Amino acid sequence: AIILGIESSCDDTSAAVIKDGYLLSNVVSSQAVHEAYGGVVPELASRAHQQNIVPVVHEALKRAGVTKEELSAVAFTRGPGLMGSLLVGVSFAKGFARSLGIPLIDVNHLTGHVLAHFIKAEGEENIQPKFPFLCLLVSGGNSQIILVKAYNDMEILGQTIDDAAGEAIDKCSKVMGLGYPGGPIIDKLARQGNPKAYTFSKPHIPGLDYSFSGLKTSFLYSLRDWLKDDPDFIEHHKVDLAASLEATVVDILMDKLRKAAKEYKIKEVAVAGGVSANNGLRNSFREHAEKYGWNIFIPKFSYTTDNAAMIAITGYFKYLDKDFCSIDLPAYSRVTL
Ligand code: ATP
Ligand code: FE
Repeated sequence: AIILGIESSCDDTSAAVIKDGYLLSNVVSSQAVHEAYGGVVPELASRAHQQNIVPVVHEALKRAGVTKEELSAVAFTRGPGLMGSLLVGVSFAKGFARSLGIPLIDVNHLTGHVLAHFIKAEGEENIQPKFPFLCLLVSGGNSQIILVKAYNDMEILGQTIDDAAGEAIDKCSKVMGLGYPGGPIIDKLARQGNPKAYTFSKPHIPGLDYSFSGLKTSFLYSLRDWLKDDPDFIEHHKVDLAASLEATVVDILMDKLRKAAKEYKIKEVAVAGGVSANNGLRNSFREHAEKYGWNIFIPKFSYTTDNAAMIAITGYFKYLDKDFCSIDLPAYSRVTL
């Protein structure tokens, strides 16, 4: 089976082709237009998707060496995401599948992030997690601990009650005047800084849930006090601030993940979503593997942030189950796993 995957939930327009579980192409067009605004502007995102979707799909088919007549099905991100962005991918997928007379498969974006671990590509090492495994899903919009029982059976054990980890990093980075998105910038600076230079408040939330809004406030207030004494404080201590912020986020994430692993007696532990690109988090996973005997699964960088390969692989599994959707299925801005 050859599946075309389409992703347009936020500010990346992406298309990918998967043949019998193997990735043939994965084209991602990131929208630079939002940088000037320090965040994604929904209207601009929607318009950019409209401009990008046809060339991106065309390029994905071309790189895969596949004609559209050879496709078995079209898989698309149904949600969650920005409605105006989703609608572009959803409408395109529906029209494309209808014109080719092939099935349509709706994919949950978050399921896609988790199943990115099952993308196989020629010449790439791919050791896949065994069910059941835990997946820490950390992205711009979500921070969740998921119990993955099967491709199509996942349970959220805990999730953020306010901000997501990526959102908190992005907001703190914005406060420091570092640009958007802050995640990769903080990551780079943190590598040169001292993670113990500053301490920021950590939440006390019961169970396996997360909270990141307190950290954001703590960071903001600390910074405000330091700037009173030294107007150039940020400039002078940029790397230490980044390293300490990153370390706090990683600590918060790993404390609960450790708790989940212990409670559920699971040692297969994966990480997914944009924040899983973070080197501090990746290092902490490696340390946990050594210390607690975890089998860890860290995705390739290009499969961490939004991409259509993860949508295509999820679509492929649903295709095998003949789990198709009807052409009048609406998009969803908020939907859980
Ligand atoms: P969701 O998947 O929840 O709908 P999203 O699709 O916007 O949200 P992703 O594209 O998965 O989120 O991830 C984007 C987030 O990842 C941003 O917050 C970004 O700052 C963060 N990020 C990317 N690279 C890094 C990095 N190296 N270190 C930390 N954060 C990073
Ligand atoms: Fe995402």
